[in-house]
Amino acid sequence: MQRRTDEGVIIACDFTGRDWDGHSPMIEGHQGSVISLEALDMAVEQAAPAAEPVECTMCLRRREPPMKVWRHPQPPAGANPDAVICWDCITLADRTFAKDPDVDWQRRT
Ligand SMILES: [Zn+2]
Repeated sequence: MQRRTDEGVIIACDFTGRDWDGHSPMIEGHQGSVISLEALDMAVEQAAPAAEPVECTMCLRRREPPMKVWRHPQPPAGANPDAVICWDCITLADRTFAKDPDVDWQRRT
C-alpha cells in the first residue's frame, strides 16, 4: 500500500504494515497493494480454505471457497486490516521471489 507524507509516497506491506526500506523484497499487486517476503512466509505456512468469498487485495479477484487464502491473524498497526491474499497470488509471489537471484527464497508451493 502507499501512504502519502510530506516527504513523498511511502510504500508499505499491506499485511505487516512495515515500510519499504528501499531494498527488502516486496511484490506489488493491483492498485498499489504490496506483499513483503516476511508476509509471504506467513502466507505460505498459514493459508487455509476461505470460509466465505473474499476479494484478494493483490489481484482484486473475487475468490470462492475452498480456495486457500491468507490474512494476517492479528494485523499489526499500520497494516491494511482488510488485506487478504489468494492462493494464486501466493504461488505467483513464491515463484517470483524464488527466481530473483537477489532474494534468499526457495519455492515452497
Ligand atoms: Zn489474488
